[in-house]
Amino acid sequence: MTTKLLNGNQLAKEIRKEISIKIEKNILNKKKRIPHLGIILTGTNHSSITYVKNKIKECKNIGMQSSLVHLPVGSLEKKLLEEINKMNKNPLIDGFIVQFPLEKHINQDKIILSINPKKDVDGFHPENFGKMALDIKAFFPATALAILTMLERNKIKIYGKHTVVIGRSRIVGRPISILMSKKSDIGNSTVTLTHSNTPNIEYYTKLADIIIVAVGIPGFLKGKMIKKGSIIIDVGINSINNEKKIQGDVDFQSVYGKASYLTPVPGGIGPMTRVMLLKNTLIAALNRIEK
Ligand code: NAP
Repeated sequence: MTTKLLNGNQLAKEIRKEISIKIEKNILNKKKRIPHLGIILTGTNHSSITYVKNKIKECKNIGMQSSLVHLPVGSLEKKLLEEINKMNKNPLIDGFIVQFPLEKHINQDKIILSINPKKDVDGFHPENFGKMALDIKAFFPATALAILTMLERNKIKIYGKHTVVIGRSRIVGRPISILMSKKSDIGNSTVTLTHSNTPNIEYYTKLADIIIVAVGIPGFLKGKMIKKGSIIIDVGINSINNEKKIQGDVDFQSVYGKASYLTPVPGGIGPMTRVMLLKNTLIAALNRIEK
């Protein structure tokens, strides 16, 4: 069977253009301040530093401002909370993110709870998460939004289909399982959420029309685990060969040719996730202007 690869780079480029046009039309032409994203980074995690650099570059390319606060390894939780408080209060910052993972001595829940929900462009604060679950307008987590947009823009119907999500993390698995089952045109899928305690995952994946895999295990989903013609969304970004190469959670060789659609890694959900952060920042800026 022919497998269509869903090109995240191309779609992200189109959406960046749409955002640039909106910035020009709804912000610059009204002589308002350009959107401004704040980023708080802690420590020296190599992947986090790369992600943050890319986010800053994308802001610049699209005509958004960004500000980075980089706290050294071993910074106290109190110091991080102070920086969050400054971003919460700074009227020049429309939205901001704290780059995860954090060092072990920092309480992640406390950090998420301290972010002003109106500036929470990562959509991790319980106010945004709760609103998302209740179908109320909110910031949605970027990766979940990236997956939905990828399906929607490629005109892949999801209503009535059976989606199996593998992985139940706060940032991917849980939010996307909520959004896929939303009572709306871009939703209405029947969702099965699986995780490391699900016995015989293959039983579920073989029944699935759509599989979203976010486990962080290279090549986890094999061709023999899926039914012919299924739609496969690979969220995994796994560094291999000492971070020189990245591989997804899907075993590309065996899935390609059996699935109808597949997101490649790299070039699938990754670039789409970055652009969704810009979209959320634009929304935060428009909220400020419309206030
Ligand atoms: P995470 O927080 O580590 O969660 C992994 C999930 O996978 C957990 O729910 C875990 O189950 C489940 N899991 C682990 N082993 C499993 C197994 N053998 N069978 C079934 N489920 C299993 O990971 P994450 O943050 O969601 O990230 C997952 C992957 O996506 C990583 O490669 C990450 O780099 C990537 N990612 C990519 C993007 C992007 O923009 N493309 C964004 C975020 C993350 P338990 O809950 O039972 O432990």
